[in-house]
Amino acid sequence: MKTCRKICAALLATSFMGFGWGDCNISEAAKNYHDVAVQADYETDAVVAGNDAADDPAIWVHPRNPSKSTIIATNKQGGLLVYDLKGKELYNVKVGKPNNVDVRYSFPLGKEKIDIAAATDKAKKNGLLIYKINSETGELTNIAARDIFAKMKVVYGFSLYHSLKTGKYYALISGYEGEFEQYELFDNGEGKIDAKLVRSLEIGSISEGLVADDEYGCFYISEENVGIWKYGAEPDAGAKRVQVDSVGAGHLIADVEGLTIYYARNGKGHLIASSQGNNSYNIYDRRGMNSYIGSFSIDDGKVDGTNDTDGIDVISFNLGKEFPNGLFIAQDGENMDGTEKLNQNFKIVRWEKIVQALSGIMLDNTVNPRNLKKQ
Ligand code: CA
Ligand code: CA
Ligand code: CA
Ligand code: CA
Ligand code: CA
Ligand code: CA
Repeated sequence: MKTCRKICAALLATSFMGFGWGDCNISEAAKNYHDVAVQADYETDAVVAGNDAADDPAIWVHPRNPSKSTIIATNKQGGLLVYDLKGKELYNVKVGKPNNVDVRYSFPLGKEKIDIAAATDKAKKNGLLIYKINSETGELTNIAARDIFAKMKVVYGFSLYHSLKTGKYYALISGYEGEFEQYELFDNGEGKIDAKLVRSLEIGSISEGLVADDEYGCFYISEENVGIWKYGAEPDAGAKRVQVDSVGAGHLIADVEGLTIYYARNGKGHLIASSQGNNSYNIYDRRGMNSYIGSFSIDDGKVDGTNDTDGIDVISFNLGKEFPNGLFIAQDGENMDGTEKLNQNFKIVRWEKIVQALSGIMLDNTVNPRNLKKQ
């Protein structure tokens, strides 16, 4: 109902611009629909590969100096990239074909607690990469016990999950044929991290975007042509699921792509989704039935806008002077420099801009992702 009203409003706006109703069918209007637009503050250096190469980002928060936090992102043609918060490339780890990447904190390894970045790797079709993040410099070091492979044919989406119930860490992996596998990550006793399969599910059809909400113990997954589903994230949670939003009748235009969680205090905050078909980002309540709040796009400004976004990430925490209220980051399908098309990259937006543009969006910069609390 709400979507229909909005699409009609978009149609009306189009007709005021001089196009008649006959020139613009409803799907064209829907494709261009978003509530508000913001402009990016920074963009990352372009990836070294052409075509569709940049895919998914993850923000890592530095333990002592949040302004030295980094963005870890995938070049799915061949590397894991580390950028500073203004998008300058710091490191390029040439490895496999990493598709989606995620970060978790304080993994117990021997007597240490280490931060990790892990990614699905399509180079051998079904691999899992695990890296230690240097707690001072943000550099990445391979810490996988062996070449780890998933059971599914070709890996695709990825999220880490840290259970605040049991303390265990898990890798959540989705596949091209709607497969889902959950791997427990564990200390192999020799300073490396290994993985074992603890759960498998069938989502239905091609599914990529994945994010776990560690505080609520659940995960969300994008079934690209269908919608967003919510499942329990503990390995014994079974196949019970709830549909958060849908393509068609809902607020999503296929493909449904990247997902991320904005953590605010006391279990509040947002789930955010990339609605790729209309080049916009949908914001939902993090709680309960995940009610839909609104959508925004990133338009051209001093940095070019985004379209066809795959992966996204958000951080609510105060990252220092430049990003006192955290940031939102989105992959850009077409990185322009004026009229020149460059290799793909990621766009960075100060969170407060989104709060100012769209009503009902939270701003709470006090939740340190290293210190989440079970809800
Ligand atoms: Ca793409
Ligand atoms: Ca990610
Ligand atoms: Ca996809
Ligand atoms: Ca993707
Ligand atoms: Ca662009
Ligand atoms: Ca650009």
